[in-house]
Amino acid sequence: MRVRLIQHTPEPLRTLYVAARTCYSPAGPLSIEEATREKMESLIEKVFISGHESILEHVSFTFGIEGVSRALTHQLVRHRIASFSQQSQRYVKIEEGVVVPPSIKRSREAMELFQKGIDHAWEIYRGLLEMGIKKEDARFILPNATPSSIVMTMNLRELIHTSGLRLCFRAQWEIRMLFTYIKREVKKVDRFLADFLQPRCIHLGYCPEKKTCGLRPLKREVIKDD
Ligand SMILES: Cc1cc2nc3c(=O)[nH]c(=O)nc-3n(C[C@H](O)[C@H](O)[C@H](O)COP(=O)(O)OP(=O)(O)OC[C@H]3O[C@@H](n4cnc5c(N)ncnc54)[C@H](O)[C@@H]3O)c2cc1C
Repeated sequence: MRVRLIQHTPEPLRTLYVAARTCYSPAGPLSIEEATREKMESLIEKVFISGHESILEHVSFTFGIEGVSRALTHQLVRHRIASFSQQSQRYVKIEEGVVVPPSIKRSREAMELFQKGIDHAWEIYRGLLEMGIKKEDARFILPNATPSSIVMTMNLRELIHTSGLRLCFRAQWEIRMLFTYIKREVKKVDRFLADFLQPRCIHLGYCPEKKTCGLRPLKREVIKDD
């Protein structure tokens, strides 16, 4: 899996600060004063904690993502407040490759069985293309493990939301790995903003799942019924 930040809103902290200050200042956005980093962070944090999250939509990030499975991209594109451009299996002859889950890689027996299925699928894909079947139809035989490339743009509000779900220690391993890399990329731009990208239990103060990984107690242990 390869993940790179391709582009982001310039001066993200200042952009968020101007958006937030505009809401609470007699001055318009064009005359908001310069502020120290400390002051900007403090206001942004306050606004986030208060739930006034729409200001976070003024900053967005574009990521280039390669070598992830179709199983992953299918989950990823379920997030609707984002823009995606994915390598087409209709127009591109898919190069042979495979994303192998660690649980399968660890077992020689499982790996052999898995590889057998993958090799067979690729053999059929190649055979169908040789028969003159269009790529858009031959692709029906390709497995979920087929690698894909995708460009994703998300604003910070949605990035916090999706990271909350996908950085959960109980999230599916590949999408969790993706969001770990995404956080690493955001950290290179701004550590303060990257700190908002946490499993959602960190923001909530409790685990909303049925079983907790132990990072936070279960909801019922924290919020008692009246
Ligand atoms: C652990 C886990 C298990 C899952 N299992 C399944 C499964 O078995 N089957 C399955 O089909 N999916 C499953 N999903 C996918 C899940 O149901 C969501 O489709 C996916 O996580 C997208 O997230 P989202 O709906 O929060 O919001 P996004 O699309 O990321 O949108 C962000 C937020 O915007 C708001 N929003 C967006 N669109 C609307 C809308 N139309 N109406 C109202 N509010 C909206 C909501 O507040 C939403 O949380 C699973 C996800 C997770 C994390």
